[in-house]
Amino acid sequence: MSGNRPFLPLSLSPLFDTEISTPLIIAGPCSAESREQVLRTAQEVSACEVRFFRAGLWKPRTYPGGFEGVGESGIPWLCEAREQTGMKICTEVATAEHVRKILPHRPDMLWIGARTTSDPFAVEEIAKELRGSDIPILVKNPLAPDRHAWIGALKRLNQHGITRLAAVLRGFSVEYPSVYRNDPLWHIAHEIALTYPELPLLADPSHMAGRANLVIPLAHEAMHRRYQGLMIETHIDPPTALSDCEQQLTPGELSLLLAHIEELDPSPASFAGLDLLRRKIDRVDEEILHLLSDRFGFVKEVAQWKKMCGSAAFHPARYEESLHSRLAYGLSLGLDERDVRELYDLLHEASLRIQTDILNTEDR
Ligand code: PEP
Ligand code: MN
Repeated sequence: MSGNRPFLPLSLSPLFDTEISTPLIIAGPCSAESREQVLRTAQEVSACEVRFFRAGLWKPRTYPGGFEGVGESGIPWLCEAREQTGMKICTEVATAEHVRKILPHRPDMLWIGARTTSDPFAVEEIAKELRGSDIPILVKNPLAPDRHAWIGALKRLNQHGITRLAAVLRGFSVEYPSVYRNDPLWHIAHEIALTYPELPLLADPSHMAGRANLVIPLAHEAMHRRYQGLMIETHIDPPTALSDCEQQLTPGELSLLLAHIEELDPSPASFAGLDLLRRKIDRVDEEILHLLSDRFGFVKEVAQWKKMCGSAAFHPARYEESLHSRLAYGLSLGLDERDVRELYDLLHEASLRIQTDILNTEDR
């Protein structure tokens, strides 16, 4: 572990007394929105053989004015979903008050969200309120890539006798441009897993991705890295979701994701060798293609602007400047200069072709 911090041991017990099948899949909407939405989603998620249902009641929103959750009025909906489907239920707690409200309804699991993890006062109060409850608690990584805040929250809960703990990697806010809403920075969780081998480690590809088409590749990546579980936001009608509408999967997409994960076969033997590496490369290629499709989308918009301004497709100064910045960036990542140059030229040629086609099309 980097930094001059002391090693803080954690005293852990299994998340559950009974054996549960792995990977542990938790699925459900970002937010509980209505009784009907919760129950319909629960039915469909349960039909995918998911055993843990999630739905946020109290929603931490970055900006005021957004949907802040239905609060305690949604608790009976979650309980009804549990009765109807037999799934275990979990939700996020961010204050001691949330814990007081949910605890009498015997939630099967709770999670501490990214915004709360880095707040020692909130975690301390939640921990005090949870004392003696024996409920498994998932601790998401903090917003900032600060492993100490993450470990500190786990330790704080542990000090109050909470031993059924797991960590959830949901990615970090970074200031550099990233394809992801929250960059996974897998190495941070990897370090934590090495320091605390007994601590179950789950991934939340939904909050990493920020958009549905990146959730499946990220879930695969987590499985390849031998994460013990996944939290996947799933909504019966994602475009109408009141929070995180772009990253939620439909139950159909969830079932596809789970089918692929079954194929991955998490037995140690299947993780060895060439096969694993090839599957990793496949996933990276998928992500590159998603990015290419974004890039060409922007190129088309640029072409429309150029057409409006009567400008040419090729701007030598822009080409030179872009090439140099890509070369420098590539070098900083340890890439070979020739490879970066050739790849950039291919991209540039394709972009020019797309733009020239648009500029040469007669407007009707
Ligand atoms: C959530 O799970 O809906 C959520 C708000 O998560 P995070 O704390 O990871 O942003
Ligand atoms: Mn969410």
